[in-house]
Amino acid sequence: MHVLRYDNRFLELPGDPDLSPGIRQVAGAWSRVRPTPVPAPRLIAHSREMAAILGFSEADVATQEFALVFGGNAQWPGMDPFAVNYGGHQFGHWAGQLGDGRAITLGETLDAQGQRWELQLKGAGPTPYSRSADGRAVLRSSIREFLCSEAMHHLGVPTTRALSLVATGEDVVRDMFYDGHPKSEPGAIVCRVAPSFIRFGNFELPYSRGDLDLLRRLADFCIARDFPELEGEGEALYGDWFATVCERTAVLMAHWMRVGFVHGVMNTDNLSILGLTIDYGPYGWIDDFDPDWTPNTTDAGGRRYRFGWQPKIAHWNLTRLAHAISPLFSDVAPLNEGLQRYMDRFVEEDRNNTARKLGYGECTDADIQTMQALQALLQVAEVDMTLWFRALGRFDPQGDIGAQLETLFDATWYDEAKRAQAAPAFLEWLQRHAARLREDPSTPAERRTRMDAANPKYVLRNYLAQEVIDRAEQGDEAGVAELLDVMRRPYDEQPGRERFAQRRPDWARDRAGCSMLSCSS
Ligand code: AMP
Ligand code: MG
Repeated sequence: MHVLRYDNRFLELPGDPDLSPGIRQVAGAWSRVRPTPVPAPRLIAHSREMAAILGFSEADVATQEFALVFGGNAQWPGMDPFAVNYGGHQFGHWAGQLGDGRAITLGETLDAQGQRWELQLKGAGPTPYSRSADGRAVLRSSIREFLCSEAMHHLGVPTTRALSLVATGEDVVRDMFYDGHPKSEPGAIVCRVAPSFIRFGNFELPYSRGDLDLLRRLADFCIARDFPELEGEGEALYGDWFATVCERTAVLMAHWMRVGFVHGVMNTDNLSILGLTIDYGPYGWIDDFDPDWTPNTTDAGGRRYRFGWQPKIAHWNLTRLAHAISPLFSDVAPLNEGLQRYMDRFVEEDRNNTARKLGYGECTDADIQTMQALQALLQVAEVDMTLWFRALGRFDPQGDIGAQLETLFDATWYDEAKRAQAAPAFLEWLQRHAARLREDPSTPAERRTRMDAANPKYVLRNYLAQEVIDRAEQGDEAGVAELLDVMRRPYDEQPGRERFAQRRPDWARDRAGCSMLSCSS
């Protein structure tokens, strides 16, 4: 078995002197806690790319030892498991101490290139932060986290990764819709991997307690470990750091909007300091383009975390982070500058994506309006976002526009009446688009290549993940690896796999797990 080196740097920060597993308020940044062993750990799936980065061979991955370690039943020398303390704003309200209630870090390792990777088990049993819950995770949510982490990576979206998905052989009881119908479900553990799992909420907690010493140590630690490229010192360094976090968050939001990803629970404890997508819970993918859609039933009332609000919610979360780190500054100007950088960078990325998605060489102010007009049409006509943009890459501005509109619609519509009603407006839009394309010097082939690189053909549609979950719950787990394999090349044409690039079927429209998800996981 390949041997990893660990340095577990997070443990340099002040920890919790109490070694008991009991639930409590913790003053330090972390608590030492061992994963609770499970009856029958068995590997269901793994990411061969992530395994290779860490240096594991396929033979290593296939061993029982691998399943034991990544199921939490054994640790390798150098691992020193701990759970991290953080707070957060949940749905806009300060929630106090949250912490890793079911995530346990096994250790921090360095790969052959010197890149740091924290190995963290999700669902490994109770920690001091488990509050009233059991520290476990169900198979359905673990499959979703495993697949989406890797799918996002292959889409080029910053994300935490997933190494392994292990069945525990133990049932977990969940009341999926919190409506008094608890049910036993199979349990599982994902080993997720990232250079850092530090969240905005890590800084908010010491701030809320007036623990400025811990706040400063945490900031200094995070900058030194996770932002080694930043130079300088004192307030100037803190200012650069915050601005960098703002920019990374802006880049992330632009990616989510480009690919149609809805996180579903953008609480401040679920925003990564590195600008990674983190904490895959009741996330969803846009089928018909709808900025008001949220997959999260827990959020159905206010729809705070709806698709179209994500960029502004991220900004709000950054204001919470700014607030939390404000004691490190004598003046608010650098914090305001950072927030302004968020806006500027988001606008820049979004313009860039507009040009790439529509196939224009650059993005003018008029092009922004063209995109907005298109989005309004996609919404009223209930047209599939992913399929529409992909098919638009095959649009020929010299060809018969009416006939091409029918072809576009045939692949992307959900509602016959809405399609018919919106047809004249779409025709007008396509005429404008065709005129714009005729001004552009690119050849159709160049344009198509550029558009295909921004408009994925394969995304992890909610119903595709649910089909795999349904099969796995019946004992057929092969679908996990099959779907992962499709998601490895989301921008490529994959002949024979067209069924993974189709509209959501009718059965999935209002089905739990496909259009409605809860935080219960
Ligand atoms: P999430 O909405 O998944 O980000 O979780 C919010 C908080 O609840 C975090 O502190 C989690 O660690 C905790 N949590 C969620 N599910 C569980 C569970 N089954 N056991 C213990 N803690 C949990
Ligand atoms: Mg979370």
